Amino acid sequence: MGAMMKYDYWVVGAGITGMTVARVFAEQGKTVLVLDRRSHIGGNCHDEYDEYGIRVHKYGPHIFHTNSKEVWDFLGRFTEWRHYQHKVCAYVESMLLPIPINVDTINRLYDIAVTPATMAAYLASVSVKLDVVKNSRDAVIGRLGVDIYDKFFKNYTLKQWGIPAEEIHPSVCERIPIRFNRDSRYFSDQFQGIPLHGYQKMFERMAAHENIHLLLQADFKDVLGEVEYNGLVYTGPIDEYFNYRHGKLGYRSLRFVFTNYRQASFQEASVVNFPNDYEFTRTTEYRKITGQEAGSTTVSYEYPCNVGDPYYPIPTADNQNLYARYAEDAKKEGDVVFAGRLGSYRYLNMDAACLEGMRIARNLLNLHQNV
Ligand code: FAD
Ligand code: UDP
Repeated sequence: MGAMMKYDYWVVGAGITGMTVARVFAEQGKTVLVLDRRSHIGGNCHDEYDEYGIRVHKYGPHIFHTNSKEVWDFLGRFTEWRHYQHKVCAYVESMLLPIPINVDTINRLYDIAVTPATMAAYLASVSVKLDVVKNSRDAVIGRLGVDIYDKFFKNYTLKQWGIPAEEIHPSVCERIPIRFNRDSRYFSDQFQGIPLHGYQKMFERMAAHENIHLLLQADFKDVLGEVEYNGLVYTGPIDEYFNYRHGKLGYRSLRFVFTNYRQASFQEASVVNFPNDYEFTRTTEYRKITGQEAGSTTVSYEYPCNVGDPYYPIPTADNQNLYARYAEDAKKEGDVVFAGRLGSYRYLNMDAACLEGMRIARNLLNLHQNV
């Protein structure tokens, strides 16, 4: 074994959570070791140039959106933004219709003439009255009715999660808002964009601080015992940390197939969802996101699966109960804070992960200042 590595803090995972924590520590004069088992920083937000020069998102399309000016400004110190508003279409009944469901989706699907003024009344007439919203199916039929559920949500959700919407927490399908107007953007947050030169450049600039030391392609368990630290922030899977002592938490993974086409444009929108056709859930055309000019275009096909890297915590009742047991163990871990999508077994957008990273770092700094 080599000599002990000594740092004020140790951050496991170089995703947006870990990189934010590390940067805040570093700027307060603390030394930080950031460890990741992958060969790159940025976690699932990582992007890279493919052999055709197109910047692709290796772990699926990542669009930055937030209402937090604090997060926007913090990340804005490490990147310029391309002011990009994300649009998604769903391929339903051989039409490409706007999703989230808006006035135009309804009118084109049913060939009727709902207006923003009549949309609420229309949806009230088709939605199912429910006393309790117990699952993701309820979350959709209670707001949009059974037909929209069947055409846009039922099969997509089954493909995406491998289990029916009836077994999934309402919050999953509630992530898709309803637009009572013609707004066809996927998100409506005040700040939206893509790092102008890519996520990777942004994370490289975050990591470029004399107090931050990166150790890549190294697993937490292999290095444990070789690092001395005052505090540890762990953003890997919480069940793995505890050696799966209560059993494995459910994670859904994805397999991406990237294909380059020698044509200027491949599809109408950056992302097309296929709820009812094919085994993939969606296709993403990256040039429409990055704004690059090139002679060809690269598209990813996204196949959900159970094996592979943990991408999405699966919010079923069983998993929540199991997570609660790990969370109890986590409270007893003394100098370890569990954070991020995997550490807290929660769906987190990038902005929420960044905000959480800032909060965690500041709390630890305060705590250690007062000792
Ligand atoms: P991660 O990015 O998962 O980083 C954790 C890191 O820890 C990984 O790099 C991993 O290798 C490392 N690690 C784990 N265990 C160990 C270990 N034992 N030893 C060493 N290293 C370890 N958010 C948005 O805001 N907008 C979007 O459009 C969006 N699209 C998404 C699309 C997809 C397909 C997915 C899966 C997620 C999307 N997200 C999006 C969410 C976004 O990916 C997360 O918010 C973000 O990745 C969370 O960052 P994190 O640091 O918590 O976790
Ligand atoms: N969803 C769906 N049809 C769609 C888009 C989304 O049924 O066309 C459901 C699906 O269950 C998905 C959830 O809504 O997991 C949340 O969608 P979101 O786009 O937020 O998923 P993510 O970007 O996290 O993959």
